[in-house]
Amino acid sequence: MDYEAVIGLEVHAEMLTQSKIFCGCSARFGAPPNENTCPRCLGLPGSLPVLNRRVVEYAIKAGLAADCAIAPVSRWARKNYFYPDLPKGYQISQYELPICIGGRIDIAVDGQEKPVRLTRIHMEEDTGKNIHDQHGDASLVDYNRSGVPLLEIVSEPDLRSPAEAGAYLRKLRAILQYLEVCDGNMEEGSFRCDANVSVRPVGSDALGTKAEVKNMNSFRAVERALEYEIARQIDLLRHGDRVLQETRLWDADREVTRSMRSKESAHDYRYFPEPDLLPLEVSESWIAELRATLPELPDARRLRFIREYGLPAYDAEVLTARKDIADYFETAVRAHANPKAISNWVMGDLLRVVRERHLDGALVIREWPVPPAHLAGLVRLIDDQTISGKIAKGVFEQMLSSGASPERLVADQGLSQVTDSGAIDAAIAAVLAANADKVAEYRSGKDKLFGFFVGQVMKAMQGKANPQKVNELLKQRLAE
Ligand SMILES: [Zn+2]
Repeated sequence: MDYEAVIGLEVHAEMLTQSKIFCGCSARFGAPPNENTCPRCLGLPGSLPVLNRRVVEYAIKAGLAADCAIAPVSRWARKNYFYPDLPKGYQISQYELPICIGGRIDIAVDGQEKPVRLTRIHMEEDTGKNIHDQHGDASLVDYNRSGVPLLEIVSEPDLRSPAEAGAYLRKLRAILQYLEVCDGNMEEGSFRCDANVSVRPVGSDALGTKAEVKNMNSFRAVERALEYEIARQIDLLRHGDRVLQETRLWDADREVTRSMRSKESAHDYRYFPEPDLLPLEVSESWIAELRATLPELPDARRLRFIREYGLPAYDAEVLTARKDIADYFETAVRAHANPKAISNWVMGDLLRVVRERHLDGALVIREWPVPPAHLAGLVRLIDDQTISGKIAKGVFEQMLSSGASPERLVADQGLSQVTDSGAIDAAIAAVLAANADKVAEYRSGKDKLFGFFVGQVMKAMQGKANPQKVNELLKQRLAE
């Protein structure tokens, strides 16, 4: 019997607000432990939450971008459980009335497009962070993360393979990055994913028992963990065993999932409406205002790049995967209108250097190796035949090391191509005179030697002769 996987994903995205969701503490990552704390996010008795308006704005923007319905009234709920990183003994979240309902994310895998439905998007506070076994037997708690605003984005179980799950996560992350709602940094934990996985016989509509897989901190880890988990469940069913409903942890070192605990149910948390916060009302006019601020999103921009710049689908995909790369490309194209050539330089040389030098921050390229105007200038010098493509590669390397403009580098070093017939003719005459034997061979029919003569002339002119001109004149002289 053949089985298929049924996957639904829950993503927790930390929002890029200045302050936390219910207090004024900084929400930034990386401060010394417990520095960004106050009585409210430490859960001290008598402290009360005050909602950060920006959190609601970001949630609405994410909902609009994913085609969700925005609830005119939503409600905060207490999710009760004890853990040392949750000092209040409950987490303020949303439960039966979330702010965003439904929605979809469109993905493409191997050219197959597919919409993935969302169940909901809601807001909640993050917990602190437990750090185990770093100092002997002690466990430490850092409350800097306590109260950092989160979006929880829940998909329907529409995904059928690890590749689809990967495509969904990449698309969702790109959308949140375009909105500047989340930096999408999986390693720092600002974009986290839990997966609900089950398998069933192909053709069946019933859902199998699902396991929840946690602790995956890269797209690659999500795909690997899903591959492992799907194979594990199919193997169980083939041997007549059953899948247990449980939470499993991905162990990236051993590349296995292992059981952590039996899966809790909603009723275990004793959800009830949060008495310290009013129901959240969102006006139509506020939604309209936020809708007007939405940037062009990755799909729209990708399609526009194909339409407006005549780029191949692949180029458009790579260039629009990140907003900062797409912005760089468009700035360069405005300076010199040769989109395909600029695309080649960006996708090839420029992004290679960005990767090698680790210049790419989670949300933005922190420092571009060369400014867009300089890259555009380089392409212009090739297009107007001032330099050859080969010389341009060398100029690009010098732009990287010196920061100088390509025009300056070419002028200072006299790299301009020689198109003057007199100079090229003189070089040709010298080469032909020095290789009289080869000239004779060529004239007796050994056509292949033409490339040798071109090479010798280019060498004599230090690579700066216009290649077309060399070809043209060389043909004439050899035919004489
Ligand atoms: Zn605080």
